[in-house]
Amino acid sequence: MNNGEKMLQFLENHQPHSYGNYINGQWVNSVSDKTYTIYNAANHKQALAHFPKSTPEDVEQAVLAAKDAFETWSVLPGPERGAILYKVADLLEENIEELAFIVSAEQGKVFKESMGEVLRAAKETRFCAGEAFRIEGKTLPAERKNVWNSTARKPIGVIAEIAPWNFPMVTPIRKIAPALAYGCTVVYKPATATPWTSARIMELLTEGGVPDGVVNLIVGSGSTVGDSLVAHPDVKGISFTGSTDLGLRINEIASKRFAKTQLELGGKNPAVVLDYANVNQVANQIISAACTCSGQRCTSISRVIVLRDKKEELVKALINELEKIKIGPAWDDDANMGPLVNKGHLDSVQNYIEIGVQEGANLLYGGELLDDDQYNHGAYMKPALLDHVKPSMRIAKEEIFGPVITITEVASIEEALSVANDVEYGLAASVFTSDLSVAHQCAEKIEAGMVHINHGTASAAHLPFGGTKSSGFGAFSIGSSNIEFFTELKTVYVEY
Ligand code: NAP
Repeated sequence: MNNGEKMLQFLENHQPHSYGNYINGQWVNSVSDKTYTIYNAANHKQALAHFPKSTPEDVEQAVLAAKDAFETWSVLPGPERGAILYKVADLLEENIEELAFIVSAEQGKVFKESMGEVLRAAKETRFCAGEAFRIEGKTLPAERKNVWNSTARKPIGVIAEIAPWNFPMVTPIRKIAPALAYGCTVVYKPATATPWTSARIMELLTEGGVPDGVVNLIVGSGSTVGDSLVAHPDVKGISFTGSTDLGLRINEIASKRFAKTQLELGGKNPAVVLDYANVNQVANQIISAACTCSGQRCTSISRVIVLRDKKEELVKALINELEKIKIGPAWDDDANMGPLVNKGHLDSVQNYIEIGVQEGANLLYGGELLDDDQYNHGAYMKPALLDHVKPSMRIAKEEIFGPVITITEVASIEEALSVANDVEYGLAASVFTSDLSVAHQCAEKIEAGMVHINHGTASAAHLPFGGTKSSGFGAFSIGSSNIEFFTELKTVYVEY
């Protein structure tokens, strides 16, 4: 049986389960007693699971459980916390197929992307497990004899973690694993659209040995539970991934009581194309970074900024790559781009294409809706390529969060850098050049948290991940930079 057939069989045999919130190691119904249903992103008629519509009272219980659990979890030796995380990483891999089916079903991405997401989550978990063994302090010389001075890192307490819907597997792990490694406890809120993978993660964390109350799950609308979670006096840090407007709002609430924030926000990521040895390789990297997850990645390339003498050749190569994209549901083994997450989001992306054309851009390729036959039950569109895009246009400035690529032609490297930086965001950027000196200058001057020279905007499982300007605030996630957010310093003087 191929993967597609296995996924279809999984979905056919699947009976929608009713989940509660996961609080103190138990599945509990919301005090609201209200629930909602999530549906297959590629088959809107198929119910996948039922989830609670939680309330601030549910949040209260979850924070209390996490606060109690902090007393014991924070003093468990780091290597023991690390050992649990190693076990969790193994469990992710052991359950990879089922997890990938769940990710694809609720989010819509194609199966091989979901498999990649689970493997990536396992890698990040292992990195965090290792971090639990190396929470380093310093010893420093004393001003007086017979005094020992040192600094130590202490976990800050209960962390509220709030996630979007684009990476239902990697985002929870990216937030939960470092919290556990450094000794914090967690209340996790997934996006309303994609809570199923998170529910399965709770079960695997428990199976891996994470004690009751250390990680709690609250499912429900951000507008109902968000404020009570973010404003809770026992929540010492908020790790939020989502839109910039919400990030600003969360930071404002948190700052009133000096709670820490780690904000991973929107992007409008450029690919600056200056020169190359092989145009097809460049086009392949750009289209892959623009269309993976149907363009719904914060680090998706959405703007191509190209030197005038390279434009014609590059555009041809980009269209050639776009033509290779086969759109379909996750169970179509040949598909390499799935539907968008839902109809509402598809409408918003389509609206941007219209705005672009009205502003004077030329729709060179794609953009149309797909709604016949197998496309009938999902939010499908062809990726769009728009030419003659001026840096001042809305499609060149605002985050679209879909498979829409703009082309802006420039006359010089200086102009390319100026256009690349002329947006409020600063998350990721790619630069294509075979001149080493130009590569270094661009890496230096581009205003982005992550710069990729000669490849697309794909990150690694152990390197700090984050943005500058309106794309992020607080410590970068993933790599060793997480220690800055999840711990605080203590300085100790000992006279002997
Ligand atoms: P979103 O609308 O900002 O929602 C993100 C999360 O915040 C969801 O769980 C949402 O809950 C919750 N929320 C809503 N109102 C809230 C409130 N008042 N208080 C607290 N939480 C609240 O973002 P999205 O549409 O899910 O995701 C797309 C955005 O995420 C894009 O801007 C993208 O760039 C960004 N993103 C950034 C990164 C990064 O690492 N920089 C990574 C991925 C995505 P509901 O689902 O219930 O509304």
